[in-house]
Amino acid sequence: MQKLLKNIKECTICQEHLPFGPRPVVSAHQDSKIVIIGQAPGTKVHASGIPWNDVSGKQLRKWLGVSGETFYNTSHFAIVPMGFCYPGKGKSGDLPPRPECAPQWHEPLFSVLKQVELVILVGMYVQQYYLGKAAKNTLTETVENYNAYLPKYFPLPHPSPRNRFWLTKNPWFELDVLPELRSRVKGLI
Ligand code: SF4
Repeated sequence: MQKLLKNIKECTICQEHLPFGPRPVVSAHQDSKIVIIGQAPGTKVHASGIPWNDVSGKQLRKWLGVSGETFYNTSHFAIVPMGFCYPGKGKSGDLPPRPECAPQWHEPLFSVLKQVELVILVGMYVQQYYLGKAAKNTLTETVENYNAYLPKYFPLPHPSPRNRFWLTKNPWFELDVLPELRSRVKGLI
């Protein structure tokens, strides 16, 4: 695992597309029980090098029912985005993760993450990649049908403050889905 993480930290595969250059943000341990797969770091995470070190991360920890200390304990959580480096800005916000990253690095990482029992898929881009045809037409439907992907995968919306309206519109998420998520996470850490 240490050698693999070192190779990832030295990766320059798509550097010509990265406005701030490569700075892979990924954390994992061979004993990690839960993997969180998000999209890609934003500027704040790029600057700090600490995954989910922003308001979205705060909300995600609340959803999971864990403290920062537990969240950053790599023997509990591996944090493996679809793109490890900040991809830059587009017309309507941050660009999607670089497409080179997950095909290059996810399989080698999962091959050494042998204790993983739960993979949390944050956002539609990630869900389409991992669930393929089993993903529903919309993120809302996929999350509402989270039971269909258990025990391996747990799909979530992005915990960004911009999704406040989605949360208000879909109260079943906080009432039904989050208690199940917290219970599964608690059972593994
Ligand atoms: S985004 Fe991924 S593939 Fe591209 S340089 Fe960073 S680690 Fe390498």
